Parts: sequence; C-alpha cells; structure tokens
Amino acid sequence: MSADQPTVLVVEDEVAQREVLVYNLQAEGFCVISATNGDDALLAVEEHEPDLIVLDWMLPGVSGIEICRRLKLRPATRAIPVVMVSARGEEGDRVRGLETGADDYLTKPYSIAEFLARVRNQLRRVRPVAVGMCLHFEDITLDGETHRVSRDGKPLKLGPTEFRLLSTFMGKPERVWSREQLLNRVWGREIYVDTRTVDVHIARLRKVICQHGGRDPIRTVRGAGYALG
Ligand code: CA
Repeated sequence: MSADQPTVLVVEDEVAQREVLVYNLQAEGFCVISATNGDDALLAVEEHEPDLIVLDWMLPGVSGIEICRRLKLRPATRAIPVVMVSARGEEGDRVRGLETGADDYLTKPYSIAEFLARVRNQLRRVRPVAVGMCLHFEDITLDGETHRVSRDGKPLKLGPTEFRLLSTFMGKPERVWSREQLLNRVWGREIYVDTRTVDVHIARLRKVICQHGGRDPIRTVRGAGYALG
C-alpha cells in the first residue's frame, strides 16, 4: 500500500454493488479495502485507519447508521469523512443519515461519476494533495497535480519523501505530528523504518526550503514531533 494514495473503506453487503464501487475507486488510484458487515467494518477502521468510508445504510447485523454514529462519537475516528449510501430515498431518511454525522449522502441508484465526485470532494478536506489540490503556506506553494513546489516564486527541488512530508505538513498547518504519525503517513504502515529516519528527512526538507533564504517554517516540538508554522 502506497502512503501517497488515500485509503478508502467500502462497507457494502451486496457483492455486485461492492465490486462496482471497489473497481471504480481503484481506477481512481485509491487504495481500497472492503467489508461486508458492521463488525468487520469497525475492525477494518481500527486496522487500516482509512481516509474515507463509503457506508451502506442497510447492512446485516450492525446497521450503517449505527456504525456511523459510533465512528462519529469516537475522537480517534470522528474526522474520517463518511459517505453514506442508501437504497431508500425519502427525505426523512436523508435527514436522518446526515443527523448521524454522515458527511455526505447518496441515494441508489446514483451515477458512478457523481459518487466519485462526492468522494473526491470529501477527500479534499483530509487529503488535499492526493486529489491534486494546490496548497499554500506563507510564501510556499505546493501543487498536488504537478508536484511542483516553490517558495517566494522560486522552484524547490524536493525528493519524493520530502515532498510527502511537506504535503503532510501543508495539509494541516500548525498540527503537531509525532514521528510515528509521520512514518505511517509518509512511509506507509507496512514498512519498518526507524523513527530517526524522520529526523534525517526533516533536516533535508529544511535545507531545501531554506536554500534561497527565509525563515525555517518547520517547528521542532520537544518530546512531541514536528509542526509547520
Ligand atoms: Ca445493503
């Protein structure tokens, strides 16, 4: 699993529906994992920490509504966008779906183009660079589409790891990232890398960012990790 691609969890008990969603999300370049019932879905969330969840309303066992409610109650999972999918179409259900905390709601049948647009829209908030957005922080610009980075208009040449580090920081300025969180996000969860490797790449990133002058925008937070700004 590449650390670059957003991970999407698809929770759908109907095989044909699930396969269509998985196929189309993979074609968009996402890492896709799937679950067929509520219990497996909750386990998959724990294990894979997906960037977004596509959740079917009607599931055997724990319903999609209940899963959504539980995810939105827990601080660790609250921020994961949930796109609820349902065969029902009544306005009451739609409102109820959004009341459980679902970030978006689609009624079957829907077009795949619309589904993907909604998914990308939600991912803009949590993984802006992965969906090709351009980010700005002070005089630094990072283009998620072309992977070009510049500071004060001057291009910066970053290695792939430094680019991922900077895009992680720029996606959430001020947030303090621990070394472990940066390892998971930038190197991927399946790869074993010593946490000191993070320090090495942060040093490289700082050097490139400051090569034309300007202050160092990366803050070392003692005992906690690193933050931008
Ligand atoms: Ca279903």
